[in-house]
Amino acid sequence: MDTGGQNGFRQTAKAVQQNAIWLNLQLAKKPPECLEHNLVHEVVHLLECHHNGRFQELTTRFVPI
Ligand SMILES: [Zn+2]
Repeated sequence: MDTGGQNGFRQTAKAVQQNAIWLNLQLAKKPPECLEHNLVHEVVHLLECHHNGRFQELTTRFVPI
């Protein structure tokens, strides 16, 4: 998830190239839907690095709008 650094938000999760996902423990304080959204976002990043059309298509496959 791209929430770190320059835009002032704390990073809550990230996918790394070793097929691993890092989750901030602060997510445990959020509603389950928030954790689900972050987890799906990072799983999709293991398949697609950029927030492009393919990324959006894969995301909506896992979490329909
Ligand atoms: Zn992202």
